[in-house]
Amino acid sequence: MALHETFNLGGDPELGLQAEVAALNSQFEDATAQEILLAAIRHQFAGGIAMVSSFGADSAVLLHMVAQIDPSTPVLFIDTVKLFPATILYRDQLIEQLGLTDVRTFKPAREDLAETDPAGMLWMSDTDACCHIRKVVPLARALTGFEAWISGRKRFQSKTRSALDAFEIDEGRVKVNPLADWTAADILDYAKTHELPTHPLVAQGYPSIGCMPCTSKVAPGEDPRAGRWRGQDKTECGIHWPIHGKEIDGSGT
Ligand code: SF4
Repeated sequence: MALHETFNLGGDPELGLQAEVAALNSQFEDATAQEILLAAIRHQFAGGIAMVSSFGADSAVLLHMVAQIDPSTPVLFIDTVKLFPATILYRDQLIEQLGLTDVRTFKPAREDLAETDPAGMLWMSDTDACCHIRKVVPLARALTGFEAWISGRKRFQSKTRSALDAFEIDEGRVKVNPLADWTAADILDYAKTHELPTHPLVAQGYPSIGCMPCTSKVAPGEDPRAGRWRGQDKTECGIHWPIHGKEIDGSGT
């Protein structure tokens, strides 16, 4: 039984979920990322949790942890059809190397593209609308049937993430952020220790990798995210808007 069923606060599911998340954050306050993942995948949300990954610059670390616990954990990958070919190759490399057995790729609906972005150039005029039909809507479809999902977001990535908890509520689901308190150095150390392959574009000057038209190289000393939607106010794709305001990216990379 999920905790929110235990916390039957007057039969209000939202209150029950809030109580569940508060209890989990208290229980796992000093837990490691692996302990949080183990509890979420094996116990708390067993059979009802998926990881969302962009297979971007930092993704290998969390994917490796999930694979160590259960390589059959569903991993949801949103292919906007605007990604770098290198990202698709990297996805396939990680699937093979980590032994992931249930990576599911979701693309934007043909009818949405035909209606809203028939020429495939919407990113030039309205990046929010483009991200909506290519990322937000497909992710909502991908998450259907899951009660919780795992995100790779970290506090150090942006001001809006500076108070990120390990467990939070998003659109009626629990979102698990096992790396919330990790630093960039922690990520690098873990990847080095476990000899994880890096996204090939990192070495070419792309420390943060999204869609091809909206990602540019970053100069030494620049913010690692400076190459995402360069020259625009936009800093995120919209996946986390309901609870955190404007953020960076759905998968935490
Ligand atoms: Fe479209 Fe750019 Fe958003 Fe990708 S990142 S979905 S190309 S606006």
